[in-house]
Amino acid sequence: MTLNQKIYSLSRPMGGLHLARFVTKKHPKILMYHRISEREDCGRITVSQFEHHLNIIKKHFNPVPLSSLVSQNSKTCVKNNSVAITFDDGYYDFAEYAFPLLKANNIPATIFITTGFVNGDLWLWPDQIKYAIDNAARESISLEVLGGELMVAGNELQAWNILSDYCLTASENEKKSIIRKIFKNLGVDFPNSTPDSYRPLNWTQINNFISEGLEVGSHSVTHPILSKLSNNQLVRELQGSRQSIIENTGVYPKGFCFPNGMPDDFNERVKLAVKAAGYEYAVTAYPGPNPMGDRFAINRYPAQNDIESFEKSIYGLTMLAMKCQIVSDQIITRRGTNE
Ligand SMILES: [Zn+2]
Repeated sequence: MTLNQKIYSLSRPMGGLHLARFVTKKHPKILMYHRISEREDCGRITVSQFEHHLNIIKKHFNPVPLSSLVSQNSKTCVKNNSVAITFDDGYYDFAEYAFPLLKANNIPATIFITTGFVNGDLWLWPDQIKYAIDNAARESISLEVLGGELMVAGNELQAWNILSDYCLTASENEKKSIIRKIFKNLGVDFPNSTPDSYRPLNWTQINNFISEGLEVGSHSVTHPILSKLSNNQLVRELQGSRQSIIENTGVYPKGFCFPNGMPDDFNERVKLAVKAAGYEYAVTAYPGPNPMGDRFAINRYPAQNDIESFEKSIYGLTMLAMKCQIVSDQIITRRGTNE
């Protein structure tokens, strides 16, 4: 059990969560969601978990649109206990499950759309791997790049993570070839079009949600790792997706969301290009102790499907742990330099 888990389990029955919420009330919590599904599936949030999250937010926090948090921040007056909800990619289940619940609870949200996905031009590659695993005719996969046999049957989530992590390090062409090999190895035919359970929202739905208050931002055209792109490719991803959103909705998107969103997936060059393309802010996919410190790298908490992780994020225990880590690192560094 980590120190953070110990603090959580000991302090929770004594009102520790509310104390943490009070101490971190000036620290806005920006939540990142991807998919909502009826049943548990490879880390997805279920409808009942999402409802539970919204109940907590409604009861104990101040839900705000992300863009207002960005503009409040420029005047350094973020409302206490602010929470902003964001969704990435643009899957159809946002229309089926998420938006109706957000609307019923009067909670605002922002969706970052991969425009090539919504336009029907591409099927997101992590979903291709998941489809191959879910429909595998064989129990394991043997790929040279993995250095051996990988059990898939009964080990679906881990296999998906291992194969996706490997693809993240590969170039676009290499990735395509690995995915072809995964399908072949598992005895699965590559479908001619995106299977139904991985389909995107359409622009009509998005426009209806915008008229009901949904904020829309960009998540690139094809969801590549931006730090690996040339300057020209980068401009195409940033401006192309922006243009597509403007043409299809009439909205000039303010926000951009880095695909994959981890520290290696963007850099100063990418941030400058995001700014030059006309965006006013950008979001990452990991938390940080000062989430609004850099408007072009705003930190978010991945919404987890276990309630302990969710409560730690939203009530501020994760943030306090990050601060403690910084202090202890500083002490160790000071000791190191004194020695
Ligand atoms: Zn994404």
